[in-house]
Amino acid sequence: MNTERKDADRTDAPAASNFIRNIIDDDNQSGKWAQRVETRFPPEPNGYLHIGHAKSICLNFGVAKRYGGVCHLRFDDTNPEKESVEYVNSIIDAVTWLGFEWKKDDQDYLFYASDYYDKLYEFAELLIQRGKAYVDSQTPEEMRANRGSATEAGTNSPFRDRSVEENLDLFRRMKAGEFEEGAHVLRAKIDMASPNFNMRDPVIYRIRFAHHYRTGDTWCVYPMYDYTHCISDALENITHSLCTLEFEDHRPLYDWVLNELADAGVFTRPLPQQIEFSRLNLTYAITSKRKLLQLVNENHVDGWDDPRMPTIVGVRRRGFTPEAIQLFCERIGVTKVDSWIDMSVFEGALRDDLDDKAPRATAVLDPLKLIVDNYPEGQSELCSAPVHPHHPERGNREFTFSRELWIEREDFQETPPKGYFRLFPGNKVRLKYGFVVECTGAEKDAEGNIVAVHCNYFPDSKSGTEGSSNYKVKGTIQFISVDNAVPAEVRLYDRLFREEQPDAGGRDFLEALNPDSKRVVQAFVEPAAKHAAPEDRFQFERHGYFVADRVDSKPGQPVFNRIVGLRDSWGK
Ligand code: ATP
Ligand code: MG
Repeated sequence: MNTERKDADRTDAPAASNFIRNIIDDDNQSGKWAQRVETRFPPEPNGYLHIGHAKSICLNFGVAKRYGGVCHLRFDDTNPEKESVEYVNSIIDAVTWLGFEWKKDDQDYLFYASDYYDKLYEFAELLIQRGKAYVDSQTPEEMRANRGSATEAGTNSPFRDRSVEENLDLFRRMKAGEFEEGAHVLRAKIDMASPNFNMRDPVIYRIRFAHHYRTGDTWCVYPMYDYTHCISDALENITHSLCTLEFEDHRPLYDWVLNELADAGVFTRPLPQQIEFSRLNLTYAITSKRKLLQLVNENHVDGWDDPRMPTIVGVRRRGFTPEAIQLFCERIGVTKVDSWIDMSVFEGALRDDLDDKAPRATAVLDPLKLIVDNYPEGQSELCSAPVHPHHPERGNREFTFSRELWIEREDFQETPPKGYFRLFPGNKVRLKYGFVVECTGAEKDAEGNIVAVHCNYFPDSKSGTEGSSNYKVKGTIQFISVDNAVPAEVRLYDRLFREEQPDAGGRDFLEALNPDSKRVVQAFVEPAAKHAAPEDRFQFERHGYFVADRVDSKPGQPVFNRIVGLRDSWGK
């Protein structure tokens, strides 16, 4: 990454510390973990990952890497109804593409909570035996009514004082499939009067006759998230368990379960430490799996990888680079304060990453023919331009100049407004990397539409030759010669929503959809872009950054997506 450039613009330098690193530094100083740092990224395979997850991925893998540790990829798969292999595979792809891996010293740290079902069950029996869990047979309505409120303590279940033997018997029969869903649950015996609802005897096992994508029909009791997560962390020897702020109130339960099992001799101390950070909220985007699913299911977008989607597959197809996403995550930093990050910060990271990398090319998105009347028919000559203006070592690209050229329609005006320096009758402009031309007029069709513009060129004005400096013109425009223009479909994407907070205040986020978020044009690009491989990126001068679509683009027949314009056009 280029660190010289734009450091002043950064909200956070790459090596900046954050409160999580401070905790790890303190732990290393005190020797708590004997310098070991082991984190995990624990997605539930029930949807595609989005840009919010990228923050968690960059943080978890980034921290582990920084301290020479390892980050596990763990599928938190305890909801049989919603999970699938398709989602598992998409998550593996997304994390890999972002540039992270879960291997260290030839060991693979890929885990599934569902692999712990036996252990989780065994520990649940242990809690029962120690008087720390009981089978509750209240109806769901009774359980809800007895939970109490923010101001009132809950009421103990009439089943709370069942004997260990009765609890064990019932729990084993739950597992054996003897009861209907909802007939019984296993609850931790903590404190129905706790001010924290999560501590009011939380449910830790429930009956579900559901097929699990990995364990099939082996189980009909499934552990709850809060019970599973902390145990999975401890089984995997996680040191720092980083999660988003909504789990802050769950931390006492996390600690309770692990402490009980440590007291029972299952785990040794120190126990993994849960640390919360604020989730990423990005303006003009949505980071709720449920709402993203709705966008896909109701065909508001063309699938999970639609380039307007804030999913990882979506931003990848849009043309964002893993480096830009990592840079973005570094810049936004990690805090405990919930806030909104402006989309322009995300787009800015992309521009900063691609400015240096992307080769330049010309594209004409709204073509109008320019005829050079004094250039001989059937003749052409080569012009050249640098691949990158700041990197002469990357060489030049070549293209032709001839009698018929494509220019942007907006680069000609019959009656120019004040301050317009491009083509109008009588005006001279430079065709970038070509010649100076003087406009002589335009042709129109029967409806009065301009169909071609005419000009004459100055043979001694070619860019890069001595004569060119004799010409002082105020305007420069791009061109692509008709004889070497490559037709290309270009998809002009813009933000999916036109409101900063599409789902603020519980309103219908569909109403905030931007009707102009996708426009497809038939354009021309210069020969250098003709054989673009899928995911090759360019800066089309004046227009922005573009990528050869990874699904539809073929070398020789490119299809481009606009990733982002050269400047933020949404700023206030
Ligand atoms: P669900 O409602 O299905 O639980 P989720 O977005 O929390 O949705 P998970 O698969 O549980 O999905 O998320 C995996 C990890 O990513 C969790 O540790 C979660 O805290 C983190 N994460 C999810 N959304 C964000 C976000 N917007 N910003 C930062 N981290 C996030
Ligand atoms: Mg979650």
